[in-house]
Amino acid sequence: MSKPGIIVHGGCGRIDESTIEERQAGVKQAAEAGWAILSQGGSAIDAVEAAVVVLEDLPLFNAGRGSVLNREGRVETDAAIMNGATLAAGAIAGVTGILNPIRLARRVMDASPHVMLIGDGAELFARSQGFVRCDPRELIVERRQEEWEREHGTVGAVACDQAGRLAAATSTGGIANKLPGRVGDSPLIGCGTYADARVAVSCTGDGERIIRMTLARLAAFLHEQGGSAQQATDQALGQLEAQLGGEAGLILIDASGNAAFAKSSHRMPVCAISETGVILQC
Ligand code: ASP
Repeated sequence: MSKPGIIVHGGCGRIDESTIEERQAGVKQAAEAGWAILSQGGSAIDAVEAAVVVLEDLPLFNAGRGSVLNREGRVETDAAIMNGATLAAGAIAGVTGILNPIRLARRVMDASPHVMLIGDGAELFARSQGFVRCDPRELIVERRQEEWEREHGTVGAVACDQAGRLAAATSTGGIANKLPGRVGDSPLIGCGTYADARVAVSCTGDGERIIRMTLARLAAFLHEQGGSAQQATDQALGQLEAQLGGEAGLILIDASGNAAFAKSSHRMPVCAISETGVILQC
């Protein structure tokens, strides 16, 4: 019997320590939004989308409004969502004028024959689907330049619903000062985001390294090989550290509702909610 649950992350890496409480409140608010859906018998895919939308709307996190700037001082967002029950997935990358990139990724999954759309093509599709394009400057939040360079805050959520269906979602502005056109791990299925019938995974951290480890799929594979949720999560991160180094973190949930997370960075705000209660860490 599956136990429903959701776990949400707010990105790994260095953060301004004075923002910890606010970040914890943010991941908790997001997990509660997902849990409200799961506890009423809603689907894991709706729960992860709702959780990520909450964090995209909070300017403190590097997703949607509040995303980091690229070298030209512009925001380019990446996002992906995957339904473990059907292996359907949708992703967008390099999108500049959409307030909630995860909603667009969901629409790519539900209403297009493709898995991923980028840049102008993604924005054209958004318009055809009735999304309102925002002024790209609306995504930019006033912060000092050194904060952009220091801070992370990619967001992600994984959930298991009452029927044991799993889903994963990740949304980010990427890394600060990236070259225009750079795409990280978050929207790449199997790298920063993955879900199947057994596990759902969302990653954060050094995208250039996470991509080369296909970290989310590695964690799923280690779980398939018999590891528990926590063992698969720890071992995947261990392999990344041993082979490529860098800072990363990931959250995982399995079809029994066991949630796990691991990080190699000092901080990663996380909130997990299930019938047994709330776990909040940073
Ligand atoms: N993984 C994201 C990227 O490389 C960044 C992050 O998680 O902070 O785009």
